[in-house]
Amino acid sequence: MLSKSRFLAGLQCPLSLWYLCFKPELATPVSPFQQALFDTGHEVGLLAARRFESGMLIAEDYLHHQEAVRKTHSAMADEDIKALFEPAFLEDDIRIRVDVLERAERSKWNLIEVKSTASVKEIHEFDVAVQYRVLRDAGLDIARVYLMHLNNKYVYGGTELNLKGLFTLFDLTAQARSLQNEIDRKLKALKTMLGKAQPPNIAPSKHCTSPYLCRFWEHCTREMSENWVMNLHGITHKKIDQLEAAGVTTIDEIPETFPLTQIQERQKQCIDFACDYISDKLASQLLDVEYPLHFLDFETVAPALPHYARTRPFQTIPFQWSDHILGKDGTLDHHEYLCMEDKDPQAEFAQTLLSTLGETGTIFIWAPYERRIITELSERFPNLNLELNALLPRLNDLNAIIRKNYYHRNFNGSFSLKAVLPALVPDMDYAALEIQEGATASLEYLRFLNAKTPAAEKENIKSNLMTYCGFDTLAMVHIREALLQRVNKK
Ligand code: SF4
Repeated sequence: MLSKSRFLAGLQCPLSLWYLCFKPELATPVSPFQQALFDTGHEVGLLAARRFESGMLIAEDYLHHQEAVRKTHSAMADEDIKALFEPAFLEDDIRIRVDVLERAERSKWNLIEVKSTASVKEIHEFDVAVQYRVLRDAGLDIARVYLMHLNNKYVYGGTELNLKGLFTLFDLTAQARSLQNEIDRKLKALKTMLGKAQPPNIAPSKHCTSPYLCRFWEHCTREMSENWVMNLHGITHKKIDQLEAAGVTTIDEIPETFPLTQIQERQKQCIDFACDYISDKLASQLLDVEYPLHFLDFETVAPALPHYARTRPFQTIPFQWSDHILGKDGTLDHHEYLCMEDKDPQAEFAQTLLSTLGETGTIFIWAPYERRIITELSERFPNLNLELNALLPRLNDLNAIIRKNYYHRNFNGSFSLKAVLPALVPDMDYAALEIQEGATASLEYLRFLNAKTPAAEKENIKSNLMTYCGFDTLAMVHIREALLQRVNKK
């Protein structure tokens, strides 16, 4: 039996569906970050249901689908019930739970899919189209099909969420109807595929990450060379297709005539000749600075549901910064800020930031993210506008300097801090940290704010957050040093 989520997985890759049905143990376990996304989706779904009057929840879980289908039918027969939440259907071996089924005029129904996103994506069209097909097979007359998503222009007043403003309805009726033939074709093909004892022969490629990173990615790519063409920096789908068609699987096999970007060309050269690339301008770009040098990093959260007054869904809210300060005499100092209370941290964040950065010194950042946050803070706090804007000319993006002037073959096509650090400073290892990436830091911060989190655990989270953010900025200090050493050896 197919569920909607399995059908959508099969749409992305039939092999993924086959694994889900017959070898689910090969999937990478759901990460805390993914679980948090599911939990947010659930929370948003509950809020969306409150927009409908005289509704009824079909509460039976997925293990009791038949019972849920029976309850759904009896609820639909009761005309006093104007909306059903999580109604269940099973037709032609496909089972679905609809987020909201709203009674429309003349015995018709509106199908409403709720998403905790800020926009409609292509996959949502297939999502509602397969539900439309099951409802149609169940004999329902569907008036309209909607996607209800969060409205990221809505500004929270600070007391109660205004559900009318919080959600946006997007009409997908035409898309759901026009996709029916394709849904039929896909369902037929997937069912045939599932009838076979052997998995389909599909190699990992561009389809594995779009629209979602497949849960079998680690399994399918476990034997791939680090020089796999998918690791070519910024490779486009078109180039992947061309290389696959030519039978090229690794970067060293790419023919010289194949068009590559400047960075891709460098990457290939570094692999072919087992060398690093260092441009003549690297030293001057690293040394064109004013002391003291600041190495700055921010941590932020972007909750789907606004939590503080005057904030919007998915608004980025900075809650932590770390600043390593390198003096001309080589002394290294460290300042940091982490908001410890459940309050909008932005004003305090901005004030403490201005205080640590002072009025002089180059500020190294990693990627344009910090620049964007400072600009947003300057717009939000007109009283700090001048001082915050004065920071902008002092920012120097270390990541951009590296992209333009340096490549190490162990970057494997990535310029993320997590890829650059081990190649240049092997002694520093994120693996030793409890928090190893920004998404986890955001989640842990939300857990830190949660009143239900025990005090001892909060202390742990606080310490882990400080260690992580401080590690990022210390990593930047050492990366710059390592680059200067390499320039000197050249
Ligand atoms: S990793 Fe790629 S090839 Fe493997 S099952 Fe997933 S989508 Fe298919």
